[in-house]
Amino acid sequence: MKFGGTSVADIERIRHVATLVKREVERGNKVAVVVSAMAGETNKLVAWTNDAAKAEGANQVPDQREYDVVVAAGEQITSGLLAITLNAMGIKARSWLGWQVPINTSAVHGSARIEGVPATDMQKAIEGGEVAVVAGFQGVAPGTRISTLGRGGSDTSAVAVAAGINAARCDIYTDVDGVYTTDPRIVPKARRLEKIAYEEMLEMASLGAKVLQTRSVEIAMLHRVQTRVLSTFTPDVGGTLLCDEEDIVEKKPVTGIAYSRDEAKITLHKVPDKPGVSAAIFGPLADAGVNVDMIVQNVSEDGETTDLTFTCTRGELTRALAAIETHAKQIRYRAVTHTSDVAKVSIIGIGMRAHPGVAQLMFRTLAEKGINIEVISTSEIKVSVLIAEEYVELAVRALHSAYELDAA
Ligand code: ASP
Ligand code: MG
Repeated sequence: MKFGGTSVADIERIRHVATLVKREVERGNKVAVVVSAMAGETNKLVAWTNDAAKAEGANQVPDQREYDVVVAAGEQITSGLLAITLNAMGIKARSWLGWQVPINTSAVHGSARIEGVPATDMQKAIEGGEVAVVAGFQGVAPGTRISTLGRGGSDTSAVAVAAGINAARCDIYTDVDGVYTTDPRIVPKARRLEKIAYEEMLEMASLGAKVLQTRSVEIAMLHRVQTRVLSTFTPDVGGTLLCDEEDIVEKKPVTGIAYSRDEAKITLHKVPDKPGVSAAIFGPLADAGVNVDMIVQNVSEDGETTDLTFTCTRGELTRALAAIETHAKQIRYRAVTHTSDVAKVSIIGIGMRAHPGVAQLMFRTLAEKGINIEVISTSEIKVSVLIAEEYVELAVRALHSAYELDAA
């Protein structure tokens, strides 16, 4: 069982969480619980690390190893509090910090990857009838230093612990009652999905749906962890099960629509149209740690030069521009333009593989609304378009209807 920040936001909610855990124990289940920090707590800790790095007028980036020591603290508190609460209710429980489990991670502090969860002692404790309350988001890097998994990482802790102890199921309790066809705040007619294939959930998460951290879905898919998303506040209704593609009987062409406003677009005008140019552009970007997402290269009108457009996140824009400008000589572009007033809208569905004309319906729907498509990218089970940010909501609503996803 995993509980997010809003589910453990205060002592009263932690008590509610404890009743849900108690219920599972009384059903005869052996339980490991993974908790997030109280809502808002991690933001506060992050802000403190930045403030501390400004001492004496300096403005440094905090040392990432110390950053991890600080931001991991939120989960230490909730794991202890939940264990205390369970014990008070007569349920045997103890807290387990990342290094105690252990949750072994890479050394990339601030966004470490889990490398293994050899939870032998914890598993023994669970077998002995004790509830294990694991601090999410944190682990231990080689050399025993505390690490954290990147924001939203406690989902990943939960799935990795479930895989590590061979759990029959991983229930992710959150503040929504499942995965929806799209963001219900934009489309009130969005529907909860009973089931979603791992592959689809992976696309949804990485394309902007914020229910689960992307990495957690990767681990669930890799280890085939039966993962459910359900609400802490209405645990008995709804829920969405992540499952194998084969377990989904009715495959509509499109399962869900995701969007992301965290997009920036850069265009290099009139770069030479000859072998090696893309390498000259994307090499420096990769070296600068910029994750390039969508790319288009126009046909060359004169056979000599062409325009090349790509996207990255808004946070990476400055770094991307700097990388390009420092390599201006090698790339030989005439001009470079950029904007952040763009957003990406994606349709996702495993049914797309078997249905022709899926992308065409997307383009027609957007055209009918007068929305211009700036960049397109596709995979087997998704089509993404880059459009002006002001049209995101209109586009998502129109596509949701066009693919017959609206609730009756
Ligand atoms: N507390 C961490 C965060 O706010 C991890 C999590 O909640 O998943 O990012
Ligand atoms: Mg979360």
